[in-house]
Amino acid sequence: MYSDVQLFIDGNWCDGASRKSQPIVNPATGRTLAQLAHADRSDLDRALAAAERGFKQWRRVSAFERYKLLKRAAQLIHERADEIAQLMTLEQGKPLAEAKAETLAAADIMEWFGEEARRAYGRVVPARADGVTQLVVKEPVGPVAAFTPWNFPINQAVRKVSAALAAGCSVILKGPEETPASCAALIRVYQDAGVPAGVVNLVFGVPAEISEYLIAHPVIRKITFTGSTPVGKQLAMLAGQHMKRMTMELGGHAPAIVFEDADVDVAARMLAAAKYRNAGQVCISPTRFLVQESIYPRFVDAFVAAAAKLKVGDGLDPLTKMGPLANPRRLEAMRMFVDDALSCGARLALGGKRIGSEGNFFEPTVLADVPADARIMNQEPFGPVAALAPFRDFDAVVQEANRLPFGLAAYAYTKSLKTATAIGAALESGMVAINHHGLGLPELPFGGIKDSGYGSEGGTEAIEAYLNTKLVTQVGL
Ligand code: NAD
Repeated sequence: MYSDVQLFIDGNWCDGASRKSQPIVNPATGRTLAQLAHADRSDLDRALAAAERGFKQWRRVSAFERYKLLKRAAQLIHERADEIAQLMTLEQGKPLAEAKAETLAAADIMEWFGEEARRAYGRVVPARADGVTQLVVKEPVGPVAAFTPWNFPINQAVRKVSAALAAGCSVILKGPEETPASCAALIRVYQDAGVPAGVVNLVFGVPAEISEYLIAHPVIRKITFTGSTPVGKQLAMLAGQHMKRMTMELGGHAPAIVFEDADVDVAARMLAAAKYRNAGQVCISPTRFLVQESIYPRFVDAFVAAAAKLKVGDGLDPLTKMGPLANPRRLEAMRMFVDDALSCGARLALGGKRIGSEGNFFEPTVLADVPADARIMNQEPFGPVAALAPFRDFDAVVQEANRLPFGLAAYAYTKSLKTATAIGAALESGMVAINHHGLGLPELPFGGIKDSGYGSEGGTEAIEAYLNTKLVTQVGL
């Protein structure tokens, strides 16, 4: 059922002109699943010409028609969810239930943006003189170049493509080379829902070559990227040189703060579930566990107990709670984080090593008493290694939480309304969740500050990123 993945350009599925391809590997077995077509310059030129034509046509399609089409696409997602989830688990490794939830969430996101299309209001500004009208109009920015990563092959893409389509833009999506089939299945949904040829295009290849070409190209008016902070900074520099609008959804390193009045068992259970979801390869994962001194030993025990219960295995096995890491680079990174933390004086409370020699499996790992200078307290782990450390009081934990240049998500557990309000205000972060993990819904803003990027991929803010604001003022002569 898993077959070769092609490019989608101007309404046609095709191989690249150069016939180059790369293998797609199942991270649970290390075996090749199929081949992925690569785009070269001539393919990109075709995609650019298609996106330019597609934009001219699509911008004239009424908001109501765009809404209906996105609703139809959402319906198709529901019909195909089992099949798409299977593809995702095979190529990405996450448990089937997580893959299915991600796929179904795509329908939710499509519906939200479809409805937002109908609410992309301008306004009329009262004039200073009789006979003058002043209209503020929202117009689509133009063809968009979107770049999405492998951790959520559908979720990352559906937010960008649906927002662009809702606004009236065309898109060239560079999908994730390591997890391309589920992303391609998403693009097929837009096609089958009736998006005209050229309006959505999908390419794969050498990421740096594609981004350099597309970002600089005059047809492209907007860049949107999800991935690591170093790559995001590079792309933002390039986009700045060419004066392109951008949305940057970059890495985080979320503090998870547990105050002494919290329910320790509930906090440990919920935080462990969030930490090991998608094997920790989530930009909003709680990653720095800062726990108040008086409850620290109890929290470590409860967290270790919750992590130890996770069944690690092939995501296709219904009992699996945590799959393999998506690629061997993450295994290497986990080894490095563990060795470095232990050499800095941390204590290994659970796990710490690779499981077996087939596939990219790594034990759910807990490092306790991790000093602030260990690499894992400074770099996003993006894997199943949790770093725990005690803190003394409110001011000390705020200082530690805000110490890093990142500011994507942050979490806190407390029963005190006063502490909840104070910590919500004090954290330098684009999103703060207190006593739960309710982030990422389509109607909520989703985005970071500081080195975690700028722009929002949810809420009413998200469609704005794909709209220009134009003033038209006139007076009758
Ligand atoms: P990476 O930085 O090489 O790649 C991250 C993503 O960016 C990939 O999808 C890749 O295809 C893309 N990319 C890389 N260079 C690019 C370029 N020049 N132009 C366009 N796209 C480019 O790292 P990686 O090994 O794939 O992942 C490691 C790190 O990336 C993780 O530690 C994590 O911090 C970050 N990451 C973040 C997210 C997220 O959701 N924010 C997702 C995946 C990876």
